[in-house]
Amino acid sequence: MARMGKTKYMIIGNSAGGIGAAEAIREVDKAGVITIISAEPYPAYSRPFISEYLASRCPLEKMLFRPIDFYEKNHIQTILGQKVEQVNIGEHAVRLENRRKIGWEKLLLATGGLPIVPQIEGIDQGGVFTFSTLDDAKALDKYLSHRVERAVVVGGGLIGISAAEALVKRGIKVTIVEMKERILNTILDEEASALAEERLQQAGVRVVTGRTVASIGSYLGDTVTSVTTADGIPIPCGLVIVAIGVQPRTELASGTGIKISRGIVVDRYMSTSCPDVYACGDAAEAFDFVYGENRLNPIWPNAYLGGRIAGFNMAGVSTEYQGGTAMNSLKYFGLAVVSAGMVNPPDNSYELLSKKYDHSYKKVILKDGLVVGMVFAGDIEKSGIVFGLMKDRVKVDDFKQALVAQDFGLVSLSEEIWRPRLEMLF
Ligand SMILES: Cc1cc2nc3c(=O)[nH]c(=O)nc-3n(C[C@H](O)[C@H](O)[C@H](O)COP(=O)(O)OP(=O)(O)OC[C@H]3O[C@@H](n4cnc5c(N)ncnc54)[C@H](O)[C@@H]3O)c2cc1C
Repeated sequence: MARMGKTKYMIIGNSAGGIGAAEAIREVDKAGVITIISAEPYPAYSRPFISEYLASRCPLEKMLFRPIDFYEKNHIQTILGQKVEQVNIGEHAVRLENRRKIGWEKLLLATGGLPIVPQIEGIDQGGVFTFSTLDDAKALDKYLSHRVERAVVVGGGLIGISAAEALVKRGIKVTIVEMKERILNTILDEEASALAEERLQQAGVRVVTGRTVASIGSYLGDTVTSVTTADGIPIPCGLVIVAIGVQPRTELASGTGIKISRGIVVDRYMSTSCPDVYACGDAAEAFDFVYGENRLNPIWPNAYLGGRIAGFNMAGVSTEYQGGTAMNSLKYFGLAVVSAGMVNPPDNSYELLSKKYDHSYKKVILKDGLVVGMVFAGDIEKSGIVFGLMKDRVKVDDFKQALVAQDFGLVSLSEEIWRPRLEMLF
């Protein structure tokens, strides 16, 4: 058997979390060998940009979020296009799909998430896609040469809508089928969801809410012809994108003794329950500063920051994660929306402040004088200040009405609050 290679730092996943960790390690350890392994064959690219690829075949160079020589300059070894099949904690080693074994001193699981695919009739035939990797976007692009005129996107969340927007730009007529009563229901409140739905409809997208897709029909089991909802409504289409959610990719941790809840559970140092093993990003369940507990928050900035914290700790520089929270900034079909924290409070013990203006809407959710959630649609310019107040746990009782005012800005805050914020800008 070939001799086992060994690396000081092994990172599985070459995306936001993995790159965040590698950068942090290099800041404090210039020499320790870093190895990044990924099943995807590409240098790290910005995953949200796959809709740009689908819309306009945006070249890979424009999708990269670090320069092409990043790995070489930082002395990072890469093994791309190879899946890790097994993690052996006792041996401190992994086994790749080509049977190669590599040892590690510190391991990071930055394995992200996998799209959830419901087991409905017709799901396995040609013309049914998920939308989470560049290869998905490439496969979709190729399929569009079949002269597809209509598509159904199953799921009206962030990923479904970004796919829908790309398809509309390609001249396809799109129907979104959403199980809940409104689109973007996990990241927006009712008011902002309605604004988003209005924009989609103006762009020619048909939005069907409160319905699920029960089966996908095809011609000779080969080409999609329609979907049928659970209440029997057929919707003709030549293409289906399934975007009903993402689940943490925990399979490498499973059976190893690493604690898994909904995702891989990490402490404030991004350390798992096994010594020398860390996790971050969509795969992990990390501290949420709004809820004060571990939660899944599958968004890019949390993955990158969590990766950085993991990297410092892997390199022996003890660094605490202050926590992340849900945070989304989107601009689909021309409507800019920012939402963060607890957008749909669970009971009436929360104070809701909201204001509607021409083509814009602002809402802030408070608990015990602290901002715990926010939704800004249309005019999002000052949303960053409100997010900062939420993150820093600033008591806002004295000026809470100003948070949703049209002219809200740093000057609306008392000097002791605005001065440090202003100084941070310069
Ligand atoms: C279409 C789309 C739009 C999005 N838009 C936004 C947005 O607007 N804002 C936002 O904040 N977030 C957005 N996201 C979410 C964001 O992309 C993710 O939160 C982020 O990519 C998570 O980073 P990660 O490093 O945890 O994992 P990922 O980016 O999922 O990367 C994990 C990597 O690990 C690899 N891997 C997994 N298992 C193995 C294994 N066993 N062996 C080898 N490699 C493995 C995978 O192949 C993958 O390359 C979007 C996502 C999609 C798909």
